[in-house]
Amino acid sequence: MKILVINAGSSSIKYQLFNMDDRSVLAAGVVERIGEEKGQIKHENKLAGTAPIVNRLAIPDHQAGLNMVAQSLLDAEKGVISTPNEITAVGHRVVHGGEKFSAPTVINEEVLSVIDSLSSLAPLHNPANLTGIQVAMKLFPHATQVAIFDTAFHQSIPDYAYRYAIPNELYEKHHIRVYGFHGTSHLFVSKVAAEYLDKPLEETNLITAHLGNGASITAVSGGKSVDTSMGFSPLPGLMMGTRSGDIDPAIVFHLAKDHGMEISEIDKLLNKKSGLLGISGDNDLRDIEERMAKNDEAARLAFEMYSYRIKKYIGAYTAALGRVDALVFTAGVGENSDRVRHQVCQGLASLGYTLDPVKNSQGKKGEVSEIHAEGSRIKILIISTNEELEIALQSEAVLLA
Ligand code: ADP
Repeated sequence: MKILVINAGSSSIKYQLFNMDDRSVLAAGVVERIGEEKGQIKHENKLAGTAPIVNRLAIPDHQAGLNMVAQSLLDAEKGVISTPNEITAVGHRVVHGGEKFSAPTVINEEVLSVIDSLSSLAPLHNPANLTGIQVAMKLFPHATQVAIFDTAFHQSIPDYAYRYAIPNELYEKHHIRVYGFHGTSHLFVSKVAAEYLDKPLEETNLITAHLGNGASITAVSGGKSVDTSMGFSPLPGLMMGTRSGDIDPAIVFHLAKDHGMEISEIDKLLNKKSGLLGISGDNDLRDIEERMAKNDEAARLAFEMYSYRIKKYIGAYTAALGRVDALVFTAGVGENSDRVRHQVCQGLASLGYTLDPVKNSQGKKGEVSEIHAEGSRIKILIISTNEELEIALQSEAVLLA
C-alpha cells in the first residue's frame, strides 16, 4: 500500500510517499515560496537514490504546487508511480482539530467544514491545510483522504490542566483552553520509547521534549498526554527560535497602553522577534553555540534561558506524573545539541535524572540512544522523531480499522 503524506503550510508544501509494506520512503520533497515571485520544488526519488532535483519557477498557489508534486511523482523518468490511483491514501497534517477531533479522521464534506470552522483558532495553518486537502481530493480522487491533527494527542489532558483560570464563558462560548501542539511527534516518540523500554504504552510514563524551531514538552501518563507546554496557541511554554514562550500577559497591556503598540505589532514581537532571536540576534541554536565558543555574552544568556526553561518544565512534569520511566529528547535541538541536553539535566539528579556525559556527547546512534548514567533512576533517551511516518501509520490504521 502506498500512502502520500502532505504537510501544507501557508507558503510551502512538504510531502513524502511511503511504501507501507516495508515503511520505506519512495519519494520526498518540498514546494516552497508559493505565491511569491521565485518559487521552487525540490523532489527526491528515494527509490533510485539519485540526487534531489530542484526546479525553480513561480508557483502561484497551492493548486499549482500540488500539481507539481503529482507530476514529480508520476514523471516517466524520475517518478515513482505510474498512475495517481496507485496511492491508496493521502494523510494530511492538520494543525488544529479543536475539541472535535482526538483521532485520525477520514475526510468528508462535514469534516472539511469543521476544519474550516476551526480556522479562527489557527488562522495561519488551518486554511492552508484545508486547501491542501481540497486540491489532493481532485488530484487523487481514488485515495482515502485522512486528517491527522497536531492537537489530537493532547485531547486526553484533564480539565484541571487544560482550563485557564479565567471566566467560564470564555471557555464555553469562545473555546479558550489549552489545546497543545506537536502531538504527532510526542505520540510517535512515546510509542518508540515504550517499545524500547519493553513496556506496554498504556503503562509507560514519559516526559517528551520536542525541541525544534518550535518547542514543546509533554507529560505522558500511561501513553496519554496529560499536560503540555503549548496552550491555546503555539506561543506559550518553552523559549523557542523566535517565540517568547511563557510571559506575563500584563506585558501585553503595558506595551499597548504605555508604549502605544498595536496588537498586531505585539503579536509579531512575541511570535517572530522573541525567543533566542530576541535575546541573542540569532534564532538558530547552532549559531548561538558557535558564538558561545567565542565567549559571546548575549549567546550565553540566550542558551541559559532556553535550557533553564526546559529544566523547570521537567521539574513540574515530574511532579505532575509522580513516576517517570524516561525523559525523551527529540527534534532538531533535542536530537543534536549535547550542550542543551547537558545544561538541562544539570542538577536534576535529586529528581532521578543523571546524565552520562560521555554517552551524551557521543549523541545519536540510531533510532534510540540511551544517555543516562548507570544507576540513574529515570532513563534519558534521544529518539529521532518522524512525524511523516506517524501520519502514514495513522492513515494506514484508519484504512485497516
Ligand atoms: P522544525 O521545528 O522546523 O521541524 P527541526 O526540528 O528541524 O525544526 O529543528 C531545527 C532547529 O534545530 C534549528 O533551528 C537548530 O536550532 C537546531 N539544530 C539542528 N541541528 C543542530 C545541531 N547540530 N546543534 C544544535 N542545534 C541544532
